Parts: sequence; structure tokens; C-alpha cells
Amino acid sequence: MGNVDANAKLAPVKVWRCKNTECKAWIRDELTTGTDPTCPLCKGPMIRSIKHLPELINKIKRQKKEKVSEETV
Ligand SMILES: [Zn+2]
Repeated sequence: MGNVDANAKLAPVKVWRCKNTECKAWIRDELTTGTDPTCPLCKGPMIRSIKHLPELINKIKRQKKEKVSEETV
């Protein structure tokens, strides 16, 4: 039985990473605008890549302003 230490599931995520190997900047593809993002650190060109990142839990509970009271008997 293989033990998995990390509880977080890793999912492949499309990212852009800096072409400069000495620069560790990268951005999620979904966070970029346009097709040719520039590195936020060194302003250099970026290339498409894949990173395995812990899955983000996007379930943000929207708090409704309406008060919904559920009465359970
Ligand atoms: Zn860079």
C-alpha cells in the first residue's frame, strides 16, 4: 500500500512560466490576459507549461442577504 502523505490532490494546471530559467515566475493560464503574457518579475517572454498544483477549492459560499431559516423538527 502506497502511502500518500499529501492530502491535497494535485491537478495539472495550465500555466505560463518565465522563459528565463533563472526566473521562477509563473502565472496560471486563467489569470493571464491575452495570448502573450510577460513575466511580472523580469518582463521577459513566457512560455506555456503545465504545473501540478493542489486543487483549489472554488466553492465559495455566497452569503445571501436574505435570511433563510430552515427549521428542522
Ligand atoms: Zn521572469
